[in-house]
Amino acid sequence: MTTEPIIVGIDLGTTNSLVARWSVDAPALIPNVFGDMLTPSVVGIDLEGRLLVGRPARELQVLHPERCASAFKRHMGTDWKTQLGEREFGAVELSSLVLRSLKADAESHLGQPITHAVITVPAYFNEHQRQATIRAGELAGLTVRRILNEPTAAAIAYGIHEANQDSVFLVFDLGGGTFDVSIMDRFEGALEIRSSSGEIFLGGEDFTRALVARVLQSQNLIYERVEHEAPRMVSRLRRECEMAKRVLARDEQATIRIPGKDGELPEGGPTATIRRTEFDTWTESLLARTEISLRRALGDAKLRRQDIQDVILVGGATRMPAVRARVESWFNRMPRCSLNPDEVVALGAAVQAGLVARDRSLSELVVTDVAPFTLGVETCHVIGRDLRPGYFMPVINRNTTIPVSRVERVSTVAPNQTSVRVKLYQGEARRVQDNIPLGEFEVDGIPRGPAGQEIDIRFTYDQNGVLEAEATVVATGKSVRHVVTRHAKGLSPAQIEEAVRRMQDLKTHPREEQANRMLLLRAERIYQELPLEQRDLLDQLLHGFEEALSMQDPSAIETNRESLERFLNRFDGPDGERQDF
Ligand code: AMP
Repeated sequence: MTTEPIIVGIDLGTTNSLVARWSVDAPALIPNVFGDMLTPSVVGIDLEGRLLVGRPARELQVLHPERCASAFKRHMGTDWKTQLGEREFGAVELSSLVLRSLKADAESHLGQPITHAVITVPAYFNEHQRQATIRAGELAGLTVRRILNEPTAAAIAYGIHEANQDSVFLVFDLGGGTFDVSIMDRFEGALEIRSSSGEIFLGGEDFTRALVARVLQSQNLIYERVEHEAPRMVSRLRRECEMAKRVLARDEQATIRIPGKDGELPEGGPTATIRRTEFDTWTESLLARTEISLRRALGDAKLRRQDIQDVILVGGATRMPAVRARVESWFNRMPRCSLNPDEVVALGAAVQAGLVARDRSLSELVVTDVAPFTLGVETCHVIGRDLRPGYFMPVINRNTTIPVSRVERVSTVAPNQTSVRVKLYQGEARRVQDNIPLGEFEVDGIPRGPAGQEIDIRFTYDQNGVLEAEATVVATGKSVRHVVTRHAKGLSPAQIEEAVRRMQDLKTHPREEQANRMLLLRAERIYQELPLEQRDLLDQLLHGFEEALSMQDPSAIETNRESLERFLNRFDGPDGERQDF
């Protein structure tokens, strides 16, 4: 008997990533090697040149921010590079390392190789960013079966949990780094996105950053300057502010310890107490920005806000009370948040993975998607007696339901013109120079004659964001096809193979060693934060653990690790939140 390969659903997030699968009749999250559902999207190279991914990398980041990369999802589809240790990494490579780690976790949890995945992206992601995500999957050894918009995934997760009621609803997704809003229809069991909008540079991290900037300002320091001159101070303060932000989601005020320039938190050092009302005032302008996208999505769907029957909250940052209150007052209804906002996208991706694998229990669920950007070609305009190139002619409009195929007719502009160069663009601007070029191709064999020979340009856009353009010379019926390839700009298959090989060369800690490494890093960080009288005790525990590790005695390692963990958890809970003692 052959077993079908399992397709996992992956939420490749800016701050955190999750992996889930369709299991029997429901989606289920898969824990990582540390037992957590959330794997921080952080990659680091430690002082020995070894690679760390997830929580160990986030630990390393506090003391060695220069050796770590995070929030690289924001750079997907660009040429951005960062130096970690001896090597340069791009966003695709870093994302692939996160995916590789999730794949390994799923493999050890499920006890079989995992080679297929559905990966989610923000609805706002453009063509290059979607292709970069597919490439990251390929580098991690995954065949990407479907790229799914995050709000669609969230709606799917809610869709199957709820009664089969027709409605128009809105998905409000404020994650760590991106904001997405999608308006969706549920009609006779089918989910359809009516419109989507958002910002790729707006998320919970910006709220934390605003808090860091205010705290520094209260010390007469300027964020940008300190970030450059004392990166450890900023990274430690960012952690303090992140914790304070979470406390403020619950309590009316929070206290932040202000580190020194070296990133140390001396005993009795300065602190700042922040009230929730102050935090809300400082971040008001960030929250106000969400309204721009909300209005745009409503306008595109030709709806008014009172037409929205339900609002779903997605993304960790929607836990902030100000966000909930704003959404509630804007729509005059309580938003839905019955599913965990961090997990809902991964759960939806797992449902979609089940659907892709043609799991019969899901066959009645139809999902349609929309093109996130307008796709079109360059044309000329006649201005007076001049013929001016550089204008954008849309072929597929933003928010058209996909898969879709559309034709537009263009014509030659000069007598005896026998060829035309078709240039493809994506964007909303009137002039192509302000849009994103997607590629170009030549159509020749146009019969000689007066200007005005007709050519049909057909665009076909599928659910993976892959665009196929076909130009047909009407008089002869001859056509030329061009596919905007799935591979990153300018990389040949040989270069891709080389990139895969290079990624495989990276030395990774064995997984159990990785857990120990993380514990040591965490202990080192906490050591610096501890009051002096507690440091000796931690020093002894650390010493015992290091000795057990060097002797490679499994039972001694186990005993010492447990004592060390118990101590650390008293000070800093397993989810990274400080517990006072
Ligand atoms: P996500 O990308 O959905 O994992 O969202 C991560 C973002 O949610 C980060 O910016 C976190 O700071 C934020 N976040 C998570 N939990 C909370 C909380 N309890 N209160 C405020 N923000 C939170």
